[in-house]
Amino acid sequence: MKKRKLEILLEGVEKYRNPKSFLEQYFTPAVIAADILFFAWSMGDVEGKTIADLGAGTGIFTIGSGLLDAKMVYSVEIDKDAIEILKKNMEKYGIRAKIILGDVRDFNIPVDTVIQNPPFGSQNRHADLPFLEKAMEIGKVIYTLHNANTNDFIEEKIEAMGGKITHKKFYDFPIPHMFNFHRKERVIWKVILYRVNM
Ligand code: SAH
Repeated sequence: MKKRKLEILLEGVEKYRNPKSFLEQYFTPAVIAADILFFAWSMGDVEGKTIADLGAGTGIFTIGSGLLDAKMVYSVEIDKDAIEILKKNMEKYGIRAKIILGDVRDFNIPVDTVIQNPPFGSQNRHADLPFLEKAMEIGKVIYTLHNANTNDFIEEKIEAMGGKITHKKFYDFPIPHMFNFHRKERVIWKVILYRVNM
């Protein structure tokens, strides 16, 4: 599949209806999700592989992994409302995944590849840390998105836990006006995708 086709398909993934700020529910835009998934696929980390989508939300990485022929996807999400939409998205695209309602900290199944857009820690400092630790515990290869201004901290953590960063990709991530503490209509955050080998 071409990246552009994947992007167009992912445009149809339903987003949160009432995003919860304390869970930092920031939907990954289709253009960014397609770029990450296509990159992961081209690295041989998706097709025929077992994937964990940690903090799956409404499932854009779950759907995308399915479209790119992942063997199996585990979608871990703590919010029931998000999972309702995730299920609808799976039906709409005819994608199968194993949904796990709960905290990523309690998920313990080893996988080939983790793809995640964790909370960036804007509400709770370092809220992304349990995600990073869990990903590195269960995955052989990890794709993980973080706020660019925490780069030094994230790199140190990854190295300390025995991971090797093989690639970094930079994105402008739009945070829409959905939470009342955001005064401007839309803010753009610089984020970094890390590909990590364990
Ligand atoms: N992967 C989706 C959602 C990213 S937002 C996307 O890219 O569009 C982060 C998601 O993590 C939210 O849906 C939030 O509800 C979920 N989340 C936050 N803390 C969590 C935890 N401790 N365990 C599981 N899910 C969590």
